[in-house]
Amino acid sequence: MSSLDAYANAKLAQIEAAKRRRVLAQTAREDGVWVSRGGRRLLSFSCNDYLSLAQHAAVKAAAIAAIDRYGAGAGASRLVTGNHPLYAELETRLARLKGTEGACVFGSGYLANTGIVPALVGEGDLLLVDELAHSCLWAGARLSRADVVTFRHNDVAHAAAILSAERGRHGRALIVTDHVFSMDGDVAPLAELAVLARANDTWLMSDDAHGIGVVAADAHGVDLQMGTLSKALGSYGGYLCASRAVIDLMETRARTLIYSTALPPASVAAAIAALDVLAADPGLGRKPLEKAQRFTRLLNLPLAQSPIVPIVLGDEGATLEASARLEAEGFLVTAIRPPTVPAGTARLRLAFAAAHLDEEIERLARVMRKNILQI
Ligand SMILES: *Cc1c(COP(=O)(O)O)cnc(C)c1O
Repeated sequence: MSSLDAYANAKLAQIEAAKRRRVLAQTAREDGVWVSRGGRRLLSFSCNDYLSLAQHAAVKAAAIAAIDRYGAGAGASRLVTGNHPLYAELETRLARLKGTEGACVFGSGYLANTGIVPALVGEGDLLLVDELAHSCLWAGARLSRADVVTFRHNDVAHAAAILSAERGRHGRALIVTDHVFSMDGDVAPLAELAVLARANDTWLMSDDAHGIGVVAADAHGVDLQMGTLSKALGSYGGYLCASRAVIDLMETRARTLIYSTALPPASVAAAIAALDVLAADPGLGRKPLEKAQRFTRLLNLPLAQSPIVPIVLGDEGATLEASARLEAEGFLVTAIRPPTVPAGTARLRLAFAAAHLDEEIERLARVMRKNILQI
């Protein structure tokens, strides 16, 4: 055996023993909430397509029309020839939605975060990161070479203490946090962080990947509002909404925008159409949170703050078993294990969608109470 394969096999055995191995399961999504996997039809509580817009007729029609007009791929980076006319339309719409001077669309949320952060801070600068921030914010933080300091989850006083100890010794400073935390479903204290940032000549960036369309953000004082087109908007791609100057800087300095091919026209057109659907039906975006709150009330859990509800079981094996038991009952609820979440906090992560029927949520709560929580 080659040393490369020996390495891969040894590593896999180690991951398997810790019950942290992940494998790809072929899944065909039929609509927003029903999927077929392994020959079975399952009701999914694991999709981030909260409003089922990925399958919305107008969204699909817009994507098809964009392919007919501009082709399947963009052909080059946005700075070369990939900047097809749909980009300007989407960026204008996003800036208007978020109340900023400008917007810049990236290839994905991951590419946005790994491009934005290093374009703003570097060696000698200070970067404060919430300990539960999404993996791609950490990736951006490492790429930036700034001094990275972690603050306790949603703990503004801790962030303040770090700033008072560290701010003076650094050049530029930036706080980054999720708006809606992707694995916990809770919401960052953006207003308090904004006050803290302002008082310390520090910039504030929020990642609204799980908020846009479904959880309103109090973004007053948030300098950099990043997010994704791939969750509630049902398409693909990432974005930053900020001042004109910051957006201009991104267009000339963000490496993930410069050195990666522009999004396919279909993805951009689909996102525009999704924004149209949302604008025409303001009640739609409130439904996933209402569904999540219905579920947390049924189980006497803390009231949901977003469509995401975690059921923390702790142990990897127990979480995999719980997920399998739910699958036997017809529910798809993926087990989330370290390193996606901290050690000892393996969990079931439920994502509620507008299309989940109340009776299905009630059945899920009954199964959860009887088979998982044993209450
Ligand atoms: C999903 C997610 C991302 C990545 O967005 P993609 O468009 O899927 O690459 C970034 N941040 C958070 C908080 C996310 O949940």
